[in-house]
Amino acid sequence: MGATHEVTNQPPPLTGYDVFGADAALVEAFDRYGNTGDRVELESLGRLAGSAEAQRWAVEADRHAPVLRTHDRYGHRVDEVDFHPSWHRLMRAAVDHRMHAGPWVDAPLSSHATRAAKFVVWSQLEAAHLCPVSMTYAAVPALRTDPAVGDVWVGRLGASYDPVLRPPAEKDGCLAGMAMTEKQGGSDVRANTTRAEPVDGLGAGWYRLTGHKWFCSAPMNDVFLVLAQAPDGLTCFVLPRVLDDGTRNALRLQRLKDKLGNRANASAEVEFDGALAQRLGPEGRGVATIIEMVAATRLDCVLGSAALLRRSVAEATWHAAHRSAFGARLADSELMRAVLADLALESEAATALGLRLAASVDRADDPHERALRRIGLPLAKFWVCKRTPAAVAEALECLGGNGYVEESEMPRLYREAPLNSIWEGAGNVQALDLLRVLAREPDAVAAWRAEVEAAKGQDRRLDDALASVTSLLAGGDAGAAGQARVLAGRMAVLLQASLLVRFAPPAVADAFCASRCDARHDVYGALPAGLDTAAIVHRATPVLS
Ligand SMILES: Cc1cc2nc3c(=O)[nH]c(=O)nc-3n(C[C@H](O)[C@H](O)[C@H](O)COP(=O)(O)OP(=O)(O)OC[C@H]3O[C@@H](n4cnc5c(N)ncnc54)[C@H](O)[C@@H]3O)c2cc1C
Repeated sequence: MGATHEVTNQPPPLTGYDVFGADAALVEAFDRYGNTGDRVELESLGRLAGSAEAQRWAVEADRHAPVLRTHDRYGHRVDEVDFHPSWHRLMRAAVDHRMHAGPWVDAPLSSHATRAAKFVVWSQLEAAHLCPVSMTYAAVPALRTDPAVGDVWVGRLGASYDPVLRPPAEKDGCLAGMAMTEKQGGSDVRANTTRAEPVDGLGAGWYRLTGHKWFCSAPMNDVFLVLAQAPDGLTCFVLPRVLDDGTRNALRLQRLKDKLGNRANASAEVEFDGALAQRLGPEGRGVATIIEMVAATRLDCVLGSAALLRRSVAEATWHAAHRSAFGARLADSELMRAVLADLALESEAATALGLRLAASVDRADDPHERALRRIGLPLAKFWVCKRTPAAVAEALECLGGNGYVEESEMPRLYREAPLNSIWEGAGNVQALDLLRVLAREPDAVAAWRAEVEAAKGQDRRLDDALASVTSLLAGGDAGAAGQARVLAGRMAVLLQASLLVRFAPPAVADAFCASRCDARHDVYGALPAGLDTAAIVHRATPVLS
């Protein structure tokens, strides 16, 4: 080998580590809220997520995007999507680890906080396949609003991964999706035009749906919660992909979206040609029914963004620990340390808030927890998901040119990063939801305040910021739509700060409050002087197990 092929000063791949155990913020949050009995499973999931084999599945699933087959060779419609085997490997692992329904169907043995920790670990590997997993998890509370229709489906979601289209009763396990968005309106679902007409002779509650959906992800799932206009208004329906008698329901996949990221997952445009569906909940109450599902998917958007942040920080800190420039390790450069520490703060705060909200699902009998979740979800969905793309871009830059090359993880993370802020209610929709809470739900506002005040007296900057947001809330502009993002951002940061002040190491809490409570946070790495960035970066840097 000639001297020109000598490779020096290139970091080793971040492979062969425990993604869970190497993430101190996640481990501590899990210890606070999760089931201690599940720790062994989380560690083994973490090792799988950090293994070379699973990392290869992620790359393959992303590179070999799903392919739509509308017809068979004789011209019959089949409307199937073919996935790379690695997609199925990822899906099987997610279902085996019960991320798709576990806490609902396995309670009290499993908890939402534990499942959230698994979700953060596993979606660091490959985010796209978590879409059907997340929709299945989220479908359960909506299905349970109407047990006469929903219970049978909840019972079918629990078992193992079975990707073949078959009658649902014969399957080892079913997965659920949702179809709300139409061409003329996504956020504004009341603009839906898909029609639902009652059918005689099939028993109560069956309808035929005619219309289209502009986005319907994971169209190979077995059942979809669909919104359509019934005689008495917008209504939620349960639409099986294959009917009990084995015939395919009249759901036509028109094409798959060619997406910026999330490429392993299929997102289809679909048409319903008189497709059979069962009503879930009363006619005219479609939004109220499906909102139960949307609340749960919004939590997963926060957890998914926390995962993207953490993977980005892991890659960036790892690179800086193993790369030198101008005679010194990058991680020892004061300026690089400020960038890495700032990114680590963002990641820690996202993880702490995501796990806190997951724990509130476990404690849903407690009015404070219900109220906190009501206000915390739009705040976290708005803020965490919106902060993520800029943070991932900054982390990518920490790897220099290597970060811009497809062989690194960073391009996949970068392409995925904006998505959580778009689906399940884009940023403005979350901010407007916050205004609704402020106007109509004083218990939720009180729960936010109580949660922030739990850290009262421990950090002057947090106390001052709470006083300042309190006067904003009392001011005349608090209900103005133009101020909604300002309020959402500040209220979310205070929730994060309160969690970090109470539970994170002093260096983390101090830097978070110094950089975010009383100051406008512009670019990453522009931290105030005097912070212990070395301790923050050390804590965030993964070690091989
Ligand atoms: C990869 C992917 C997969 C998806 N999968 C699914 C799926 O499986 N099922 C499904 O039903 N949908 C799915 N969606 C659709 C997604 O939920 C919608 O794109 C999203 O809800 C936004 O709706 P829209 O695209 O119609 O945008 P619009 O509703 O037109 O919104 C456009 C912009 O306007 C803003 N806006 C909207 N209303 C207001 C207002 N009142 N004031 C101020 N600003 C406002 C929004 O914040 C947004 O920035 C998917 C989308 C993507 C990208």
